[in-house]
Amino acid sequence: MAKKSPKERAKKKAWTLLSQAIRLEAADVDGYVQCITCDHRAFWNRGMQAGHFIDGRMNAILFDERGIHPQCMGCNVMLNGRKDSYFVWMEANMTRDVIDDLMVQKRKIRQFTLEELDEMIAEYAARIKKAKAEKGIE
Ligand SMILES: [Zn+2]
Repeated sequence: MAKKSPKERAKKKAWTLLSQAIRLEAADVDGYVQCITCDHRAFWNRGMQAGHFIDGRMNAILFDERGIHPQCMGCNVMLNGRKDSYFVWMEANMTRDVIDDLMVQKRKIRQFTLEELDEMIAEYAARIKKAKAEKGIE
């Protein structure tokens, strides 16, 4: 397999950190996170993930947090994101404009520069540190 470029590595790292930041910010003071598409509730890093409302890892929506929310692994992976329930949750928690805009963004290819990705990595890392400190979780 070809070695990953610095940009690919940075993109992967940025996503890993954003996923953690989203879960930690959504966690309660005990570090527990609620899956938005089922009743499952678990510690932020035990079987919990950050799932996309709309798939598209090449697109502008990959890092668009309006469409990224905590999900359990069962919903996100085994049930392919449970998109029907996800849509219901989005309708209840986001405006129509946001949902419509995410649909538009889905069709746009967005290339991030290494500098942009490095800035995102720093921002997400700072958010993780802050959320952990605020809630006293590890
Ligand atoms: Zn779930």
